[in-house]
Amino acid sequence: MTTTMSRPNTPATPALDAHALVGALRAAFVAGHTQSYEWRRDQLRAMRTMLVEREPEFMDALATDMGKPPAEAYAADIGFVVSEIDYTLRRLRRWMRPQRVHAPLVTKPSRARLVREPLGVVLVIAPWNYPVHLLLAPMVGALAAGNCIVAKPSEVTANTSALLARLIPEYLDTKCVKVVEGGVTETQALLAEQFDHIFYTGNGTVARVVLEAAAKHLTPVTLELGGKSPVIIDESANLEVAARRVAWGKFLNAGQTCIAPDYVLVAKPVADKFVEHVRRAVFDFYGPDPKDSPDYARIVDGRHWKRLVALLDSGTATIGGQHDEKSRYLAPTVLRDVAPDSPAMQEEIFGPVLPVLTVDSVDEAIAFVNNRDKPLALYLFSESGSVQQRVLELTSSGGACINATMFQVVVRGLPFGGVGPSGNGAYHGRSTFETFSHTKSVLRKSARPDPALAYPPYTARKDKLLRRFL
Ligand code: NAD
Repeated sequence: MTTTMSRPNTPATPALDAHALVGALRAAFVAGHTQSYEWRRDQLRAMRTMLVEREPEFMDALATDMGKPPAEAYAADIGFVVSEIDYTLRRLRRWMRPQRVHAPLVTKPSRARLVREPLGVVLVIAPWNYPVHLLLAPMVGALAAGNCIVAKPSEVTANTSALLARLIPEYLDTKCVKVVEGGVTETQALLAEQFDHIFYTGNGTVARVVLEAAAKHLTPVTLELGGKSPVIIDESANLEVAARRVAWGKFLNAGQTCIAPDYVLVAKPVADKFVEHVRRAVFDFYGPDPKDSPDYARIVDGRHWKRLVALLDSGTATIGGQHDEKSRYLAPTVLRDVAPDSPAMQEEIFGPVLPVLTVDSVDEAIAFVNNRDKPLALYLFSESGSVQQRVLELTSSGGACINATMFQVVVRGLPFGGVGPSGNGAYHGRSTFETFSHTKSVLRKSARPDPALAYPPYTARKDKLLRRFL
C-alpha cells in the first residue's frame, strides 16, 4: 500500500466549455448512437474490462488518496461495480423489453405497453469516499438505459479522479461519455447546462446548489445524501455479534461511509458489556495498534481530519482517540458520556468516531431517532420479533438492516437511497436502470374498426354503452 498519500497537482479539464461538451453529447444522443442493445452491452463490457485490466492502477490510486486497504478497495469500490455490471448484463435484454399492460375494452383492438426509453444526456456527480464505486455504479444504469453521460469525479480524491479521466475514454465510447475533472467552478459550469437527469451523491449543502440549478431547467434529480445513521441495541441482542458488526461497519474505510453506523443507542444494562465487545473486536481486526494495520484506512484530507479530531471533545474516548496529523490517522474510537446536543451528535460524523449513548427503553431510542432528520440507514440489533417490528413501523429511514450493518447495499433487489434529508430517489440493480429511463406509456390501435360510439353527437344509447364499457 502506498502511504505517502500525495496529491498530484491535477489541473481541471483544460478550459472547460460545458455548453459545447453537452451539445456534442446531445448530438450523439439524437443521432441514436446509444439506443441499441448491442451498444449498451458493449459499453458495460468495456467498463468491466477496464476495471479488471487496470485493477492495480485503481488500487494504487485509492491507496494514495486515502490509504484504502486493498481488500476494501476491491470489495467496496472495484468489485462492487464489476458485480453490478454482471448483474445488469444478465438482465438487460429483459429490462429493455416493452411490458404489456391490460387495455380496457373501449380501446380494443389495441395493445398497451410500457416502453423504457433513455432520458438523453445525464450528469453524474460523485464524492470522494468510494470514488470508483460512486461514479461508476450510477453510470452502469445510465449506460444500460442508453444515455449519454457527463461524469464528474470528486477532486478531493485527485489521483483516482485523474485515473478515471484517463481510463474512461480509453475504454468507453468517447462520443457518448465524457469525464470532467475539477472542483466547484467546473461542477457549477456543468450545472448551468440543461441535462435530462442529474444524479448527485454527496452532502446536503451541495445538494441544495444542485437542486437550485436543476430547477432552472426543470431537470429531474436523484440525490444520494448522508446523515446520522443510528444503531439501536436492545437487551435481547447478541452483544458480541452486534459489537463485531457495528465495529466493522463503523471502521471500514475509517468510517468514511455514507451508511456507516453514526452513533449507538444501547440499553443501559448492557452498555458496558457492548463497549467491551467493541474493544475486543477492534483488537481482533486491527491488532494492538491500528496505526500499524494494513487494513485500516486514513482520513481523506486535513480539513476532515481536523473536523474529526475536534469531535473527540464531545465525550470521553473509552476506546482509541489517538491521532496523528501527518499521516491523517485517527484511531478507531468509541466516545462515551456524549451529550445529545454536543457537536458529535449534531453533524454527520463521517469518520471513525462512534458515540455510544444509553437509553432506558426501545421507545426512548425510537423517540430519539424521530427527533432528528430521517437517516439514510437504521440498524437494529435485537432478538425480539416484536421489537424489530415496532422499530421498523415507528421509524422512517432510507433503508434498514436488522442484526447487521451495511449489508443491505449488496442486495441488488433492494433499491438504495435516502428519504427526506438523506436523499431522494434510489438505485442499484434494476432501479439504476429505471432511474435513468423514462417509462413511456404507449397505446397502439388499429385504424379499423372505427365505431361512432365515442364521437358526437352523443345519444342515450351511446351514453348507456359508454357507462357499461368504460
Ligand atoms: P465532495 O466534497 O467530493 O463533493 C461531491 C461533489 O460535489 C464533487 O464532485 C464536488 O466537485 C462537487 N461540489 C462540491 N462543492 C460544490 C459546490 N459548491 N457547487 C457545486 N458542486 C460542488 O463529497 P462530499 O459531499 O464531502 O461527500 C460526503 C457526503 O456524501 C457525506 O454526507 C456522505 O454521507 C454522502 N454520501 C452519500 C452516499 C449515498 O450513496 N447516499 C454515498 C457516499 C457519500
